[in-house]
Amino acid sequence: MTVNGPVSAGEMGLSLIHEHILVDFIGADSITEKRWDKARVIQRSLPFLRQVRHLGCRTFVECTPAFLGRDPILLKSLSDSTQLHILTNTGYYGAADNKYLPKHAFTETAGQLAARWIQEWEAGINNTGIKPGFIKIGVAGDSLSGLHRKLVTAAAETHLSTGLTIASHTGPALPAFQQLDILKSMGVAPEAFIWVHAQEEKDLSFHVRAARMGAWISLDGLSGDNIDEYVKMIDNLRKNGLTGKILLSHDAGWYHPGEANGGDFRDYSALFTNLVPVLKNENFSAEEINQLLISNPAKAFKIEVHRSSDRIVHFR
Ligand SMILES: [Zn+2]
Repeated sequence: MTVNGPVSAGEMGLSLIHEHILVDFIGADSITEKRWDKARVIQRSLPFLRQVRHLGCRTFVECTPAFLGRDPILLKSLSDSTQLHILTNTGYYGAADNKYLPKHAFTETAGQLAARWIQEWEAGINNTGIKPGFIKIGVAGDSLSGLHRKLVTAAAETHLSTGLTIASHTGPALPAFQQLDILKSMGVAPEAFIWVHAQEEKDLSFHVRAARMGAWISLDGLSGDNIDEYVKMIDNLRKNGLTGKILLSHDAGWYHPGEANGGDFRDYSALFTNLVPVLKNENFSAEEINQLLISNPAKAFKIEVHRSSDRIVHFR
């Protein structure tokens, strides 16, 4: 589901699965769309999107959550100007000491939060008519708090009603496996879960374990400086027959409202100009590279309910 409506998974083409246009760190208390001028953000970001379009990218997954600068109208204009498929999201980001959670996230039940997110899927986001293409949540990198468990539970309920995939800002293995446990208890299979920022976990055996369960391993901080480290992580999964569970991206962009010209805007090119040539040198076949960049994202972001077979689904 793109900001311009549904496309078939086969039409997604080469996809960058975790990127940003604008991120505003002011906090849920103070954020408003008045803090940025859409025309200026477009002017600043358009050359970077045209660059990746030229490099072969067809789908751009924008991971900025609500209360951190999610702006579906902005994304739709960028999609219209570049002919890139762009996805936006529903869900709440609890990492960073809950600074980006609205007040109601502290008081409402998981069911009430899920109802809000399901409403965005059914009716569109804030009267824009634009629907989310996935669920984005965020949890802290240590053992899950009750509040973060609630966000995961709400994401699981939303998945079961909508078939939207859950991308969770996570980092280390402990909260990743705790989330997979919650999903299991809700009847949601690991195939519905993207372990975002999995590169932060340095014990690579956990990547293998989560991928074997069926989860997506998102190695999403690529830059010109860390290609060797990424090749090592990719190779580790590949050696274990798990190339089909890897997702790659840069987590780049980041127009910052309040900074001159949006501050330092990072480009999205390392995957094309640095990583792919190295993978070719490492004897990755064209089929394997297509799997990493085209077929894995298409499977990961396909709208489909993934139920785990061994558990009864319980709605409140
Ligand atoms: Zn990100």
